[in-house]
Amino acid sequence: MKVLLTHIKELLQVRDAAPNLVSGKDMATLPTIKNAWLLLEGDRIADYGSMDTVPQHDVSETIDCSGKMVLPTWCDSHTHLVYAGNREQEFVDRIKGLSYQEIAQKGGGIVNSAKKLQNTPEEELYRQSAARLEEVMRLGTGAIEIKSGYGLTTEAELKMLRVAKKLAENYPISVRTTFLGAHAIPSEYKGNKNGYMDLLCNEMLPKVASENLAEYVDVFCEEGYFSVEDTHRLLSEAASYHLIPKIHVNQFTALGGIAAGVQHNALSVDHLEVLTDADIAALQGSKTMPVALPSCSYFLSIPYTPGRKLIDAGLPLALATDYNPGSTPSGNMNFVVATACIKMKLTPEEAINAATLNGAYAMGLSSSHGSITKGKKANVIITKEIPSYGYLPYAFGSNLIDAVIINGEQL
Ligand SMILES: [Zn+2]
Repeated sequence: MKVLLTHIKELLQVRDAAPNLVSGKDMATLPTIKNAWLLLEGDRIADYGSMDTVPQHDVSETIDCSGKMVLPTWCDSHTHLVYAGNREQEFVDRIKGLSYQEIAQKGGGIVNSAKKLQNTPEEELYRQSAARLEEVMRLGTGAIEIKSGYGLTTEAELKMLRVAKKLAENYPISVRTTFLGAHAIPSEYKGNKNGYMDLLCNEMLPKVASENLAEYVDVFCEEGYFSVEDTHRLLSEAASYHLIPKIHVNQFTALGGIAAGVQHNALSVDHLEVLTDADIAALQGSKTMPVALPSCSYFLSIPYTPGRKLIDAGLPLALATDYNPGSTPSGNMNFVVATACIKMKLTPEEAINAATLNGAYAMGLSSSHGSITKGKKANVIITKEIPSYGYLPYAFGSNLIDAVIINGEQL
């Protein structure tokens, strides 16, 4: 099956030899070919060039992309897409003035989602999650990370991860899974956090590992949740099962969790709305990707991750949605890219690099995703007719996607 895209107004993120990630000043460069063609063969990118070199291949399908941009699909490296129900009532409580923390204190928040999830049968959880996955694929996401963390019992955590693995089997999108049992302290362990830590380390982690349900481990390192000390303990335990850390840190307070993550070779540290110079220093020279989640800042009205500061310090930055029922009920990466430009002052080039190549890095998918490179996955977004790629974040409320191809399959 060969598909030839012709007369592409501009082919974005074209990299003959793609780096694993882009940092600092290099993020300002987005390599493109104007008036281009792109050949997809099966599930891979076969070749590309400018129209004066268009091949006379015997192809199964030709798609005329006149006036349209083509770019690699988004890589969303941080989601909680598997969940049950919604938290619309808390949304109204917040409108009326309660804070995220106040809602959590009165039994809402993560613990509320956990109760719903524990009582939802696996098939129903799959059905709800599959609908969300189909929606984000149509919005141009071609690789996604999905976390557990709304189970908070061994059985419910395993149920979430089994659902995520089943989605991976049944859909063309690449799915990476993360064990986030340390998302909140369940009500049964109120006042006994160490008891829950024991359950995480002695029962949940071994089961997740033996059933091969996750590639990564996560912890919500935050005041009122898990301390830096807890983070060290969990990540040390997880290392013995070869689970790589991708952690929630610095959302509301800077406790030193970033340095702890770097020390445990975290693939990414995510959130970073509150960031100190010491945190930036800890990231320098590391292989850890900082990940910003601007839709979460938007929804909760909390500060945005100082992405400009991270990039200006020579660091890389990835963008992800944080799709979850409490703080970000949206998996729309187009909105994330726009919000990064509008609120975090990233340029369109920086935001697109952060949402493709660097997002792929934050899921260990650099060799197969995130750029238009020969041999990488045939994952592309074909836009509607637009004047320039800067128009994508500019016209933030419009759906500018005409078609999405994932793993060679047009949706
Ligand atoms: Zn999250």
